[in-house]
Order: sequence, then structure tokens, then C-alpha cells
Amino acid sequence: MKIVSLSAAPCEMPLEDKDWKFALGAVSSARGFVVTLTTEDGTAGYGYAPSIPHMGSLFDILPKEFERLTPAVVGTTPFEIERVLQKMDGLLGGASQAKGAIDCAMHDLQARILKLPLHDLLGGKLRDRIPVLRILALKQPDDMAKIAAGLFDQGYRYFKIKVEGDLDLDVARVRAIRQRLGDEAHLTIDANQSYTAKDAILAISRMAEYRLDLVEQPVHRKDLKGLALVTQATNVTIEADEGAGTVDEIMVLATNRIVDAVSLKLPKLGGIRNAIAAARICEACGVKARLGAHVGTRLLNAHAIHVAAALDVDYACELGEFMRMFDDPFKGIDVVDGYISVPTAIGCGVTPV
Ligand SMILES: [Mg+2]
Repeated sequence: MKIVSLSAAPCEMPLEDKDWKFALGAVSSARGFVVTLTTEDGTAGYGYAPSIPHMGSLFDILPKEFERLTPAVVGTTPFEIERVLQKMDGLLGGASQAKGAIDCAMHDLQARILKLPLHDLLGGKLRDRIPVLRILALKQPDDMAKIAAGLFDQGYRYFKIKVEGDLDLDVARVRAIRQRLGDEAHLTIDANQSYTAKDAILAISRMAEYRLDLVEQPVHRKDLKGLALVTQATNVTIEADEGAGTVDEIMVLATNRIVDAVSLKLPKLGGIRNAIAAARICEACGVKARLGAHVGTRLLNAHAIHVAAALDVDYACELGEFMRMFDDPFKGIDVVDGYISVPTAIGCGVTPV
């Protein structure tokens, strides 16, 4: 059963919050491409490539990458993922978002052909539902606390507070949110590389009384010594995200215990196969791994949910950001009471609207 075509359709999902900001920029819509792989008998498998500048590929570039990668995919069967990954790497370096979408679509095709839910191909699910962490975009402290309270009322208990390297303002953000939500909420921060190592240590010590579970990418992604310093100087879990951009980078971070945890993202790592490889490396090194934000359609999140369900993840994952977007071209999953259920339908569990 060969794959006979690869098509990539643009997808734009406007955000509910037109003023969504983090330390790396402002975003008003989630853009990317839905990839459809079709086999001889007309079975379709889907994957999604988000346009995210810090992962390497922008919206305008993605169609060219798909065009370049198509010969590696068309003519193979959906069960030759390893061969396709090798061929794609031979045709084009980087391009992890496009390669990730193709890897996901091939996994989806396999599951649809075998008439199984995707997690059954990944070793089976370890849990039926996953707690969802929601991201709070940069705003004034009281505004962030108000949005957090609205999410808390919907059942969310895990929150990621975006911070930006402004010590007093960032501490005020964490304080306002803790005071508003009370003890039941789990709080994390994501600096998106905006601190120096020393400022990060100072910020974390000032935030300690508001109880943080985790601090994501406090320093520049290339500042491994600074990251190690923060990890050693604090008793909060320190997690790499932008610095954990490839399996190779994750291996360096994990084997040297530069961080306590890494954020796995399918588009960043080039798909399910690489994400699971990275998770195994972390496991062997005693470093935690969880699924980070999969910004875009339910399609992308569905793939990530199956991966999260098949791995031994012990913290909330960022698999519900689609709830703050409009015009999703896929349906089939939703966050209920702060949790997302692992789809049991055939394939990745979502279907085109
Ligand atoms: Mg992050």
C-alpha cells in the first residue's frame, strides 16, 4: 500500500486574545500547514507543521520544504518511517516542523490502516487522561491573575506564567496569580531565555514563597554553563525548551544533567519517532520529560497526546492551547475540567471538520 500523494494546505487560526505576547514576540494567530498523505486505496493520514520562527521555519518557507521533501515520501509505504526520515535528512537539513508533520501523518496512516488508536503503535497508553497546563501570556500582573482565575474556574489547575526578564514585574506576576488562585494551583514560569543565570537564580529565590513547580528555559538556549548554574543553585525543577531543540541537544543536556527536565515538542524534534528517542535518553539519564506547548490545531495536539499517554510523564502537559483559538480545521478532542482524554478512535483521533 504505497503513499501516492503529499499535499500541504495552509491553516490559520485566529487567537481569542489579539494581544498574546511572550518574551520572544507577539502573536495574533496560529499559522501552519496541514499535510495530507494519501495511499493508493484513498486512505488519508494527517500531520501539522506550525510556523514558528524560533523552531527554524516560517510560514512562507514551509511549502518549499514540503516540495523538497515530497520525493522522500511518495512511493514508500506508511510503514517505512525510518527510511523516509533518512531520505528526508539527505534531501534537506533542519526543517524539523515539515519533517515532523510528515512523520506524524505516516504514524496516523499506519494507525488508520491497522484500525488502531495511535497509542497502540507506541507501546500502549499508560493513562486515560492527561492534566493540561495552560499558558498565561505576558500582561500586567492583575490582568494575568484575572485570566488565570477564569481558567481555574473552568477546572484547570496547572499554569505557566510567561515572564520576560524584568525581575520586579515578573515577581509581581507570580505573586498576583498565587494570591488570586490559592494553594490548589500548580504554578510554573517560562522565561523564554530572557534572564541571565544570576538574575534567574535571584528571581527564583524571590518567587519561592509563591511556590513554583518548574522554571522553563531561564537563560539563552546556548548558555549551557549558565543553565547548569541555575539548575545547581535552585531547588525548583529547571526545564529546557528552546535549548532542547534536537535529539542531540537533549542528549547533551541529559547526560550532563544540565537541566532537571526537558520540554518535548513534535514539530521542534521532527516528529513522534525523535520525540520518543529523546524521551528514552532522558529516562536513562534520570531527567524528566513532558510534552510542551503544541501551538495550533487539534490535529497537532492529538498526535502529542498519544505520545504523552505512551510515555511515563509525571507532570501536566501543554496540550490544550487550541482552546484559545478559532477556526480549527480538525475536531474530536477537547479539554474538560482541566484534563484531556486520550482518544480511543482509530488513527490519531481527530478528523477534518
Ligand atoms: Mg517554552
